[in-house]
Amino acid sequence: MGAVRVDLSGQTAVITGSSSGIGAALAEGLAQNGANIVLNGLGDAGEIEALRARIASEHGVTCLYHPANMLKADDIADLIRFAQQETGRVDILVNNAGIQHVAPVDDFPVEKWDAIIAINLSSVFHASRAVLPVMKAAGRGRIVNIASAHALRASPFKSAYVAAKHGVMGFTKSVALEVAEQNITVNCINPGYVKTPLVENQIADTAKARGITEDEVVRDVMLAAQPTKKFVTYDELTGALLYLVSDDGANVNGNAITVDGGWTAK
Ligand code: NAD
Repeated sequence: MGAVRVDLSGQTAVITGSSSGIGAALAEGLAQNGANIVLNGLGDAGEIEALRARIASEHGVTCLYHPANMLKADDIADLIRFAQQETGRVDILVNNAGIQHVAPVDDFPVEKWDAIIAINLSSVFHASRAVLPVMKAAGRGRIVNIASAHALRASPFKSAYVAAKHGVMGFTKSVALEVAEQNITVNCINPGYVKTPLVENQIADTAKARGITEDEVVRDVMLAAQPTKKFVTYDELTGALLYLVSDDGANVNGNAITVDGGWTAK
């Protein structure tokens, strides 16, 4: 558990794409600080139920799950409706769901482009659109969009992802201006490379494929762009999130906390 502590008792947080990776870690971090949680995401039903039950019992909070598919606007509206109906409020929305596809643009499958724009960008619009009336009625709210260092910098072969993440940053600024006087903030967290299970599995495979050590894979291949040469940790992202949702974060608006080991300083 990270060092940052905020009292979120009684608040409700909805985290999209929280069945694994960063989203699951952020959900757990919010629960550790007292928030009731609505999980979302794809995956094995048994594993999701185990995560839901563990978060509820370990942290003594209400933890629910809604299976909204981020490709579907109606599902997303229903996720927010469900959270409000079941817990009576939605104080925090973390738009985290995301996918990636890597290919040259003239070879990029059209359906992959459409899915990345829908899940990584349009779902942020649909969820924000649905939650803002709830937050406006409550007189307070926090929307945190998990964008990326790729919201600020490009890499080749990731055109859809980079376009979507730059779009999230622009959307964040625009909505922040709209709701600034209503005690609602809208911000991004821009992670650099995070050691999710997916990344972890690639280390050994890449080492074998390239005939180099696992340390060399991390340093010279994966973290070539990240000056600290260290992966961003879940605790570091959770700390940024807790600050943004706290009362002390009230004047950080339409901006980003970039947790990227110095990548975008270059
Ligand atoms: P992950 O694959 O572990 O998690 C993605 C989550 O999104 C999962 O819960 C998945 O079920 C969910 N999801 C995917 N498609 C969905 C859909 N159609 N409907 C509902 N849920 C869906 O990936 P992660 O690395 O934890 O990424 C989380 C976020 O962080 C993404 O937005 C990603 O772009 C961003 N990010 C990740 C890194 C990194 O290095 N891992 C770096 C910067 C930004």
